Parts: sequence; C-alpha cells; structure tokens
Amino acid sequence: QIDSRVLIVTTSIGISVYPDDGVTAEVLIKNADTAMYFAKEKGRNNYQFFNSSMNARAVERQQIEANIRGALDRNEFVLYYQPKINLDTGGITGAEALLRWRYGNDEPVLPARFISIAEDCGLIVPIGHWVLREACSQAQKWNTSSLTPMTIAVNISALEFAQANFFENVRAILEETGLAPQLLELEITEGVLMRDVISSAEILQKLKAMGVQLAIDDFGTGYSSLSYLKQFPIDVLKIDQSFVSDILSCDDEGVIVSAVIGMGNSLKMRVVAEGVENQTQLAFLKARNCEEGQGYLFSHPIDAEYYTKLLKQGSEVVCPA
Ligand code: C2E
Ligand code: MG
Ligand code: MG
Repeated sequence: QIDSRVLIVTTSIGISVYPDDGVTAEVLIKNADTAMYFAKEKGRNNYQFFNSSMNARAVERQQIEANIRGALDRNEFVLYYQPKINLDTGGITGAEALLRWRYGNDEPVLPARFISIAEDCGLIVPIGHWVLREACSQAQKWNTSSLTPMTIAVNISALEFAQANFFENVRAILEETGLAPQLLELEITEGVLMRDVISSAEILQKLKAMGVQLAIDDFGTGYSSLSYLKQFPIDVLKIDQSFVSDILSCDDEGVIVSAVIGMGNSLKMRVVAEGVENQTQLAFLKARNCEEGQGYLFSHPIDAEYYTKLLKQGSEVVCPA
C-alpha cells in the first residue's frame, strides 16, 4: 500500500534445470529467460519450466518481430469482418473488424500470433491507428450504400488506449471518414480499463460525450471490480466465448452466461454473446433474452468483399468457413 493506493505486484518466473537445460551458467540463464517470456505470455503471474520447443517458438517470435516492422508500409494488413446478429430477428446489427496479416503465401496470420509481439515493440499503436481508419472508412462506404446503418466494432489494445492523444485520434478519424460517432463501437477489455481507473473513466466519458459506443470485450475473464464498472459509461457487455462454449444443453445451468445477461439488463447495457457455434447455445441465449450474438453459427470473419455480398443477400445467410 502506497498512501491510499493498493498496488498489486505479481511475478513471472522462468526455470531451467542443470544439466538437462544447459551445462554452463550462460546457457542456463538464457533458457530460464526464454521460459520467463513464456510465463509472461501465459498471462504473467506464473512460472514455466524451460523446454526445447520454446526455442523454436522464440525463433518464430524473432522472425515475426523482424517482419512486422515493415508490414504496414508493405500494405500487408487486412481487416476481416464478422457480423453481429440480433438474436430475436436474425438481422445483422453491425460487424466487428478483426485484423489479419498477409505474411508469406499461406493463410492470413491470426492476431494470436502477432498482436502481443506488436504490443511489445510498440508497433500496435500505428497498426491500431490504421485499423481504426480502415474500419471506419469501410463502414462509411457500407452505410452510404445501404438504408440501414450498422455499427462497426474495433478492438483497442492497452497501449493504444494509454496514448495521450487517443481520444483526439478517434475524433480525427471520425471526421476524416465521415462516420457518425454513434456507429463506432470501441471494444476494450476489463484489464485495460482497470490499469488506471481514473484516467480510463475520463477518456471513456469524453468518447461517450462524442457519441461513441463502448463495449467491454471478453467480459468475465479479467480482474475487475463491479463497482468501477458501474462508473464507466459502458453500453455493451460481450460475454467471453469460453462461457458460451460451456453451454452444453438448452436447460444447462450456464450460470455465468445467465448472470451476465441479467446483470447487463439491470445495468441497462446491451449484451452480446461471443463464439456462438451451435443451435443449442443459440436456443439457450434466446431463452434468456440475450440481445445479440456473434459466432461461427452465423458467419466466420470474412473479407470486405464477401461481407458486401452478405449485406446484399440479407442477413439470414450462414456463410461457409
Ligand atoms: P476478440 O475481440 O474477442 O474477437 C473474437 C475472436 O473470436 C476472433 O478471433 C474471432 O475470429 C473468434 N471467433 C468468432 N466467432 C467464433 C466462434 O464461434 N468460435 C470460436 N472459437 N471463435 C470465434 P481473432 O480474429 O483470431 O482475434 C483474436 C483476438 O485478437 C480478438 O479477440 C482481439 O482481442 C484481438 N484482435 C483482433 N483484431 C484486432 C485489432 O485490430 N486490434 C487489436 N488491438 N486487437 C485485435
Ligand atoms: Mg473483440
Ligand atoms: Mg472477445
């Protein structure tokens, strides 16, 4: 405790064992260091024993780090879009923009492989800026060519949110693209908001005053205080997919999902279920009046061209993988 603030300090530990992991101090320390990075990647506050596959991963990590540096300039990023569905009507209410990296000739690389690296080397800031501009500009194109305006949701990383000019950037991009602030939804995780509660609340209030919608992503997985959540001007709770995948039958207790839906309703927040994959989960969510859902059952994330076709065909279409 420092003055009135309680600071929570955690430790990440990497362990290497003599002689299996190295016979010299230098090698042992290097391998323990590699293992420590894995402990951090696993969410910090844990320990990892070194194993040789970690070296292969560390090499891949270095390669990604070297290649991601020029990726923006080489135009290698692309946004995919996944529709969000009103569970009552089956209509599309909006889309979430999801980042993909065209690297090599294979399938686009998923965020799990590169976002944390881009965060570590600070590149997530210019990348996030590009994502926001691209998503707003694409949404504006769709909205000017269609009668029913839809929202576009954009994921915001901790580092972007912590930039002093974050709010100004959002405002400038909205102005530049012409997208109405009400149609932009920023997805932020609990952990990011809780890092600095006072400054988070200030930024959120400014965004809210401008009309931007605010969503808590992966709700239920972070460390957060419900009383703080009430102070943030949140519009949407996105129930993390791990809870949705726990629903095994229609009468399944699915207690966390039910509780979050109930809480969202009481706090007057919209609730979106992430990762809806089957009819059982859909029936469960509908029976508990969950407003919106997103998941492979409705559509995988798809590129802008395919998404345009989806909008033209109408929302009842379930896309192939
Ligand atoms: P998220 O924001 O929670 O996004 C949902 C993730 O679940 C997406 O993974 C999506 O493809 C996947 N998903 C959707 N429906 C289903 C389903 O029915 N079943 C399963 N198992 N998964 C489903 P993706 O695209 O790989 O993105 C992973 C995470 O990377 C995102 O989680 C988000 O935290 C982050 N991310 C994605 N794009 C961006 C971005 O532009 N900026 C930042 N900062 N983070 C991003
Ligand atoms: Mg998200
Ligand atoms: Mg999520």
